[in-house]
Amino acid sequence: MSRLIPGIVLGTLLGIVSCAEVPITHRHSLHLVPDSELMTLSYQEYNQVLHKSRLSTDTQEVATVRRVGARIARSAETFLREAGQGDTIKNYHWEFNLIEDEKTVNAWVMPGGKAAVYSGILPYTLDDTGLAVVLGHEVGHAIAGHGNERMSQGLLAQFGGMALAVALSQQPQQTQSLFMTAYGAGTKVGVLLPYSRLEESEADHIGLILMARAGYDPRQAIPFWERMAKQEGHQQSMEFLSTHPATQRRMEDIIKELPEALQYYNAPRS
Ligand SMILES: [Zn+2]
Repeated sequence: MSRLIPGIVLGTLLGIVSCAEVPITHRHSLHLVPDSELMTLSYQEYNQVLHKSRLSTDTQEVATVRRVGARIARSAETFLREAGQGDTIKNYHWEFNLIEDEKTVNAWVMPGGKAAVYSGILPYTLDDTGLAVVLGHEVGHAIAGHGNERMSQGLLAQFGGMALAVALSQQPQQTQSLFMTAYGAGTKVGVLLPYSRLEESEADHIGLILMARAGYDPRQAIPFWERMAKQEGHQQSMEFLSTHPATQRRMEDIIKELPEALQYYNAPRS
């Protein structure tokens, strides 16, 4: 059920909040939640998820996830610095964990860079480059502030005209439950509610650039999505396939963005 927010109240609310610019795509997205608040919620929830999950004991696979994750994260930070958004880097405390769950073909990153990869996705990523497609996409969601955007939409819908500061200080439980709804972690561990198609395309685009800048061949995104398209079942828990641009459409978009990504891939790296 949606609720209409009187324009004047919305205007007042928007007056005191920030619109953040999404790196690479330069879209303006609504960020109502102070980063400090979002980080607190994120870290609490991340620790809960890790606590409830079985972490992989395969040292080689864990090392792979952390190695690729660290390269993508470094790539993201370099990118943010070059884009004049270096002051946001302090908001990320990257962590990449591998959860032992063969049936779950999934990965996600919470705000602040807390990431989980499920072992069920490894047969599709195959190698470091495949994993870089996944983690590039996920880190893309993180640096685009999609978590804040979803929380903000939820806040507007739930609190309407109430001043945000009041909502956050007087309704901590509702704020937390919004985070849980956004991340679905409280009810069904590790299952994210779908992002919008726009956010998915944005994460694909940013991910492609991040992986290329990290030295992974962005052309490998195409065979990765082809492998993913062939899988059956799992759609419900699949961050990548649930809402999404149909695979065909997604691949067409990626093909259009490849020349831009390849410029970075082919550029000399220090
Ligand atoms: Zn996504």
